Amino acid sequence: MFKAFLIKYAEIGIKGKNRHIFEEVLCRQMRHALAEVEGEFSVTREMGRIYVRTEGAFDYDGAVEALKRVFGIAGICPVVIVDDTGFEDLAKAVVDYVKEVYKDQERTFKVCARRAKKTYPMSSMEMNSELGGRILEACPNMKVDVHEPDLFLNVEVRQNIYIYSETIPGPGGMPVGTNGQAMLLLSGGIDSPVAGYMIAKRGVKIDAVYFHAPPYTSERAKQKVVDLAKLVARYSGPIRLHVVNFTEIQLYIYEKCPHDELTIIMRRYMMKLAEMFARQDGCLGLITGESIGQVASQTMHSLAVTNEVCTMPVFRPLIGFDKQEIVDVSEKIGTYETSVLPYEDCCTIFVAKHPVTKPNLNIIRRSETHLADKIDEMMDTAFRTAELIEIS
Ligand code: ATP
Ligand code: MG
Repeated sequence: MFKAFLIKYAEIGIKGKNRHIFEEVLCRQMRHALAEVEGEFSVTREMGRIYVRTEGAFDYDGAVEALKRVFGIAGICPVVIVDDTGFEDLAKAVVDYVKEVYKDQERTFKVCARRAKKTYPMSSMEMNSELGGRILEACPNMKVDVHEPDLFLNVEVRQNIYIYSETIPGPGGMPVGTNGQAMLLLSGGIDSPVAGYMIAKRGVKIDAVYFHAPPYTSERAKQKVVDLAKLVARYSGPIRLHVVNFTEIQLYIYEKCPHDELTIIMRRYMMKLAEMFARQDGCLGLITGESIGQVASQTMHSLAVTNEVCTMPVFRPLIGFDKQEIVDVSEKIGTYETSVLPYEDCCTIFVAKHPVTKPNLNIIRRSETHLADKIDEMMDTAFRTAELIEIS
């Protein structure tokens, strides 16, 4: 029955004269998402509205699912479009719509007619009452409630006439590509894919870096990260994933530094390297899945010491989330099942039994002086030899 969708968008409505840029990016992202779906779709902007129209048969559920992943969409309204062939035909189409969509359900409703085409021979008020009357006659279970109806039956007269009442919630946020680019530190865990999702939701294009430590971390652990990047990319669009061989650096830190400081020093080098890739890719910040107090390396003291090596802003969208709240988002976006697959993402020999929870920056810096001989060269090698995987 539905051959089109009216797309409602959220915050991008309030961007003043930049609005058309946001709308264009949104249309582009919608086309991109629908390219995967069976059917012919056209996405158009018309008088401050965005429509998806279809030609011939199409995968309705697939189209809705694809649109539900496009940031910037607040709501997806399936629309019936009819030609303007006189009021009697319209009234019949509206009654058919109500019968079809609501079957014999008991609902209160209100008709909201709008005329963009002012030459239409009836006023909106007349249309409201006339159409309301026809629905009451044809559907005995429906009742009018003009104050708090269960459903608003929208009838918009334009070149054609649009009938719709249902709104499927979209993901909200802003279209990816309207807010610069950032580098996600993506591990195989639960948190970082969620962090990437949340920043992409604000319109930021995402690139990613994964620190791999073969043979201590397996090929399957790497594949898991690639799979997670693909799942995030369903929302964020293409991701350039840099896979860095971190083994030498980790072993060197292990050899030279106190073991209770390993994690914190390792994290400082991860951030430094991530920033090198970020700069190369034109990113404006880093993204991590850290949350205050979750583990020893995420106490306020540890975060301060880790952050100290960065010159770019580090975005930590999960900083105030409890683990369960993060799990809830990961389930909602579909990364949870992959995240909990059992492959190690960080070699156990590199984890101290009693890591420092209140590292002191001066002490950490002093420990790092033991790395002075080779670390710059190792960083350079890790940067130059990283593998680039284009996730689309
Ligand atoms: P996650 O669930 O995202 O793995 P975590 O709870 O395991 O997080 P940590 O291992 O302390 O926490 O990592 C904190 C953050 O550092 C991660 O969210 C991620 O952004 C980054 N990170 C950790 N390990 C790696 C890695 N091997 N490659 C890339 N980024 C990493
Ligand atoms: Mg982890």
